Amino acid sequence: MTDRQDTTAERFAAARLWAAGHAPYLTKALFALTPLVHDTAPPRLPADEHWNVHLNPDAVRETPVPELGWWLIHQVGHLLRGHHARAEPYRDPGLRLRWDRAADAEVNDDLDGGPADAVSPETLGLPAGLLAERYADLLDLIDVPPHVQACGRAPFTGPSAMTALERELLARAVAAAIDSRGTAPGGWRRWAEATLRPEVDWRTRLAALVRRGLAQAAGRVDYSYRRPSRRAAAAPSIVLPALVRPVPRVAVVIDTSGSIARDVLGQALAELDGLLRAAGHRWIEAICCDTQAYPVQRVRRASEVELAGGGGTDLREGLKAAAGADLVIVLTDGDTPWPDRRPRQQAVVVCLFGDRGSAPRWASTIRVPPPPTEAAA
Ligand SMILES: [Zn+2]
Repeated sequence: MTDRQDTTAERFAAARLWAAGHAPYLTKALFALTPLVHDTAPPRLPADEHWNVHLNPDAVRETPVPELGWWLIHQVGHLLRGHHARAEPYRDPGLRLRWDRAADAEVNDDLDGGPADAVSPETLGLPAGLLAERYADLLDLIDVPPHVQACGRAPFTGPSAMTALERELLARAVAAAIDSRGTAPGGWRRWAEATLRPEVDWRTRLAALVRRGLAQAAGRVDYSYRRPSRRAAAAPSIVLPALVRPVPRVAVVIDTSGSIARDVLGQALAELDGLLRAAGHRWIEAICCDTQAYPVQRVRRASEVELAGGGGTDLREGLKAAAGADLVIVLTDGDTPWPDRRPRQQAVVVCLFGDRGSAPRWASTIRVPPPPTEAAA
């Protein structure tokens, strides 16, 4: 190790101790970070999804230790909240910056003492306590002050020291520590609550993703609908032609292969009823799918769908049948082959039941925990 790296490692160690003293409930997570020292690292200690923090030696030398520690807490905030996986639907270059700011707003919500140019609900003038997906919606409607900057991204992904399961167990251990201490700020307590009792959270995430999917679809159809026209504001006496906004088409693809209990599907459909009606949808196209897609059912309420099917699963058929919809919501246990890529011009939200199956990276995914059993209640 050269002297320069030595100094970087020492300052990192000091910053981590500062952070653990400042937020003791995060100690386990802070000590799971692996430092990676290289000259291409941006200055705000960005972490990659494998819990490597990227340290730029010059920036680390010039930044006071408490500020380095503050950024370590910030990065642990991204990692524990699963922001890397949640960023997936925002991969388009036009959406990336918005997501980076939205994720920073969620993390910095109640993380006091950061640099004045860090993104927070306060610096953005937005309400506190929301999920990043909701901040991303709202950021589409406001002008962000130019000096406000997200922490940035790691230029590459380093090696993985932990498996996905180990990361999940770490998150649960941190959540348990927050839960038992009761001294953590409100945002962390809400996160711990959702991590330990995920049934509280999946409805919130589903609502946020459905809203965003609908907003994106509406934006593709007619972008101007979302941003009030400056011309209209400047000339209030002129009656501008009304913009016609076609309602985005929503399809629900339901895995009826027999491995998911009908009452679980029924609950998810009832949840969707509320969400879509609140968004002004009077019709839903439902497609039941096992190894084949069944004819589209156009229903007023999702709970009216006749569940047809049984046997094996191939949701590629169901997604093919949903090709004309702007937003596709998939209800499945994930035990199915998936298309290799996201269908063009389509937002896909996957509600994944149970913990065995998986969803493709190009879809927004919500894991729906099994309903609590009588014995557990
Ligand atoms: Zn950040």
